[in-house]
Amino acid sequence: MLCVLNKPKMSTKEDYDCIVIGAGVQGSFTAYQLAKQNKKTLLLEQFILPHTRGSSHGQTRIIRKAYEQDFYTHMMEECYQLWAQLEREADVKLYRRTGLLVMGPEKAPDYQLIKNTLQRNLVPTVILKREDFSQHIPHVNLSDGDEALVDTTAGVLYADRALKTVQGQFQKLGGVIKDGQKVTDIKPGPVVTVSTSSGVYRAKSLVITAGAWANTVLSHVGLQLPLQVVRINVCYWKEKLPGSYDVKCRFPCFLQVECKEAKDHIYGLPSNEYPGLIKVCYHTGSETDPDERDKQTDRSDIELLQRYIARCFPGLVPEPAVVESCMYTVTPDRHFVLDCHPTYSNIVIGAGFSGHGFKFGPIVGKLLCELSQGEVPSYDLSPFRIRRFQAKSKAAL
Ligand SMILES: Cc1cc2nc3c(=O)[nH]c(=O)nc-3n(C[C@H](O)[C@H](O)[C@H](O)COP(=O)(O)OP(=O)(O)OC[C@H]3O[C@@H](n4cnc5c(N)ncnc54)[C@H](O)[C@@H]3O)c2cc1C
Repeated sequence: MLCVLNKPKMSTKEDYDCIVIGAGVQGSFTAYQLAKQNKKTLLLEQFILPHTRGSSHGQTRIIRKAYEQDFYTHMMEECYQLWAQLEREADVKLYRRTGLLVMGPEKAPDYQLIKNTLQRNLVPTVILKREDFSQHIPHVNLSDGDEALVDTTAGVLYADRALKTVQGQFQKLGGVIKDGQKVTDIKPGPVVTVSTSSGVYRAKSLVITAGAWANTVLSHVGLQLPLQVVRINVCYWKEKLPGSYDVKCRFPCFLQVECKEAKDHIYGLPSNEYPGLIKVCYHTGSETDPDERDKQTDRSDIELLQRYIARCFPGLVPEPAVVESCMYTVTPDRHFVLDCHPTYSNIVIGAGFSGHGFKFGPIVGKLLCELSQGEVPSYDLSPFRIRRFQAKSKAAL
């Protein structure tokens, strides 16, 4: 009798149509889409919500159609509509149009690819002539040999607010969120059993959107993906003259595709969340363990940004005023993973968003929902299939 009383409390098994693991942007939108299809859905999150330990926290993200590949630009067409639909449903503002200034050496392949994709897909774009540049974009020095254009459809998404909104809408549709419950085991089968630190749940299908912890969760279902987790230093820089780079003064988001300081992209958002500070980050970082993110103290990216800002943004103090942390989970080709488990077709995976997945949240949610229901996905998912990694590793042998 005493023995029974001392046992930790385990709730009885709860049955759902679908369980989603991970309440970041991708898991939250997937759960919301499932609930919209009247599926009884459970969204499990290891930390108490909201939290700042994954990849979806922070006040802002860039949304844009400017991409090197057509398939992302095509998906963004519908995605803008889905963001607007969520805004209407919840009566909340999630997007602010600012435009995206893209700068890069005339001959840089990435710059040319972005320019061509925008033009081919008839995205409203303004090509800025060097002689007019400072009239349109004051307080920025365009590097010698660089060209510039503006994707006028681009802007800022209010990220924290978006996450809260989509989770709230999911709950309004009858969805269940259980936070503070880390998934510790998964038993595949026609009915999948998921165990957490405090419960056991069963469902006809499972979606794994565990961000930087994807491989830890996937180890329970015998799968490992080539994912690299990196820590990103999220740097905010002080305006020397308040308002020079402000969202209210119509300063755009920007993307520097290549420059003498950096091989990878540098990107920035106008001053918005912290008055007088603009966010400028380097699009790569140093490898980290997601549970020990803040042990990673490499500052080489910050030093590189300081040199770039001193040269190209003369209106900013070239020393970050605030540095926060976030993580990317990067695939070798930087394209997402949106696919079914190779053995268990009722287990679906959304992973490897490689530092550019937030804007796609609504469409990723729709696609993962379709895959989990055995439906034909709305888009060609071949760039996102798991087998592309296997094909590459076989070719390398
Ligand atoms: C600094 C920075 C800037 C960015 N800028 C942009 C941008 O401008 N535009 C853009 O489109 N994208 C941007 N991104 C990328 C975008 O934010 C990410 O691609 C996206 O947030 C990834 O979402 P996710 O749901 O996959 O991961 P996460 O948000 O990390 O969610 C995964 C969740 O799973 C939970 N989890 C993990 N393991 C378990 C477990 N065992 N049990 C239960 N729960 C678990 C985690 O706690 C976490 O909450 C940026 C990212 C960063 C870091």
